[in-house]
Amino acid sequence: MHDADNPLLQPWTAPYGLPPFARIAPAHFAPAFDAAMREHRDEIAAIGANPAPPTFANTLAALDASGRSYVRVAHVFHNLAASETSPALQEAERELAPKLAAHQQAILLDEALFARIDALHARRDALSLAPEERALLERVHLDFVRAGARLAPAARRRAAAIAERLAALTTTFRQNVLHDEATQGLHLTDERDLAGLPAWLAEAAAEAARLRGERGGWFVSLSRSVVAPFLAWSDRRDLRERAFRLWTRRGELHAAHDNRPVAREILKLRQELARLHGCASYAGYALADRMAKTPAAVDRLLQRVWQPALAKARAERDALAAMARSCGAAHAIEPWDWRYYAEKVRSARYAIDDAEVKPYFSLDRMLEAAFDCAGRLFGIRFVPRRDLPVYHPDVRAYEVLHADGRPVGVFLSDNFMRPTKRGGAWMSSYRDQSSAHGETLPVIVNNNNFAKAPDGEPTLLTADDVRTLFHEFGHGLHGLLSQVGYERLSGTHVLRDFVELPSQLFEHWAFDPGVLERHARHARTGEPIPDALVARLARARTFNQGFETVEYAACALVDMALHAREDAGGVDLDAFEAAELARLGMPREIAMRHRLPHFDHLFGGNAYAAGYYVYLWAEVLDADAWEAFVEAGDVFDRGVAERLLRCVYSSGGTLDPAAAYRAFRGRDPAIEPMLADRGLVGEEAPA
Ligand SMILES: [Zn+2]
Repeated sequence: MHDADNPLLQPWTAPYGLPPFARIAPAHFAPAFDAAMREHRDEIAAIGANPAPPTFANTLAALDASGRSYVRVAHVFHNLAASETSPALQEAERELAPKLAAHQQAILLDEALFARIDALHARRDALSLAPEERALLERVHLDFVRAGARLAPAARRRAAAIAERLAALTTTFRQNVLHDEATQGLHLTDERDLAGLPAWLAEAAAEAARLRGERGGWFVSLSRSVVAPFLAWSDRRDLRERAFRLWTRRGELHAAHDNRPVAREILKLRQELARLHGCASYAGYALADRMAKTPAAVDRLLQRVWQPALAKARAERDALAAMARSCGAAHAIEPWDWRYYAEKVRSARYAIDDAEVKPYFSLDRMLEAAFDCAGRLFGIRFVPRRDLPVYHPDVRAYEVLHADGRPVGVFLSDNFMRPTKRGGAWMSSYRDQSSAHGETLPVIVNNNNFAKAPDGEPTLLTADDVRTLFHEFGHGLHGLLSQVGYERLSGTHVLRDFVELPSQLFEHWAFDPGVLERHARHARTGEPIPDALVARLARARTFNQGFETVEYAACALVDMALHAREDAGGVDLDAFEAAELARLGMPREIAMRHRLPHFDHLFGGNAYAAGYYVYLWAEVLDADAWEAFVEAGDVFDRGVAERLLRCVYSSGGTLDPAAAYRAFRGRDPAIEPMLADRGLVGEEAPA
């Protein structure tokens, strides 16, 4: 194929540099990456070979400006591989992942380039750098050091080989999980198998069966957004058990897609990498580049929640058992019973029934609510643009504008589950904001996995879905509102345990009574949500938080224990998980939210390894940050919102996160608001 025929290598003429999606085929990626990597290597070589002494401009700024073609292709590639994949694209991913890792590693280990960066870093106090320039120098220097730039030649080569192998292994891990989620599940053929299911779930299951080419019936896939509600509503205990057992065995269901040997090798390589860097464990190596700084700081936080969460979960279990008895069930609560009886207790205690709640949470109105909150806080608005190119007909594109009409960027909203999309919800970008090399506006995408309503009907969300929508939208704002010079510091390119602050904080607006009153309107009648229902939702806020904290914190604790191992030998994943859960006193009725064989956060990439705790770390920040609005007496307070924009949403990685938080709040964060939000302290009645 000639480069001239490859749309990835031609100029992209759509507004905001959007890719020409319709013309891109999987076969275009390998040759496009080859050309883009060649160009990038030449740029890097030119920076290193510059005869002029190193300066910020000819080294750091030049590095930040390099690789534009590469970054452009990589964004499309990674996004499509996650949101709209195909066997051909997966094949390309397996082939390319190690090559791309090798390319990045080669840059980070380029001796001529690092010599210049290191020389500048050594003189950093004498360079009279602007604060953002100083931040870029520190960040880039650390990137190189952590990749191994300072290691002896043999160790450096080994670090590069490990990075390459890890890229291949994490790709395989992700694809194995996707395989099990898309192909495994319950194929139901008898109407009686649907007992207890709400209509929307039965319809989604019928649609899933059609998409699989079944001749009828219903398919309950192992995607969380299907199987979790199935476990909450199915009256058929036998089917709940079957679904639960399959769901929790993702990643170990098939010999050809068994993730256990994959994870084992990943762990071994990470341990070796940590040793090369003089760290006893991978956790120590990973935490050095986080806000928490040490595994001990993470442990202190997790211990603050673990025992109270266990106590709350035990009280919840007793309430579920009592409910089961009152329903005439003689059995003990098993893991596949928890969500089912929790739903019954919730409905009995707070009179909350999803069938009553969901009509007020239509996807369209909740998206409008998110846009409106962003507008009231930060003065931006979202204008639908049907003319912009998208990669799937379900994706909606919005142009984002400042109040005065100046463009902010593009927001792509991709909300529905489909077999070509990985599970979960996430934010990503097609282009990151930067201004130092000419104004580049961001193109941000949010992915969710909501079950799409049949044609002509509104898609209705659960309260959990609404929370997810606002969460990802908060990440989206972090990308959109970025106002930095350099791409390396743009938007969400912040430390991993700070990155969940903008997302989790934004969840708070979703359930603010004023926001609900304004936007939560009945999908058919347009009636606003009744005050009494809002009050019941607020009262139910801490319901089941013992369960949720335990299933989450168990994952964070096992993650830290796994990556804190100093033993370089292989680990038996099943045995380790079982032993660690026993040591923690994990209630037998609750499973880890993600068991190790499908724990994508840990093994589908390296960013969240020894990092699943980051959600809780950031929750301390977001609960405390929300209090700033509560204290101001207005959740849209202009002064607080302005500080939030300046210190958090627009500042990317230009500020030290602890200092940025202090600048916003006037003090360090307090942990108590987080504990109170989860119902883990205070007068709160148990369960
Ligand atoms: Zn997030």
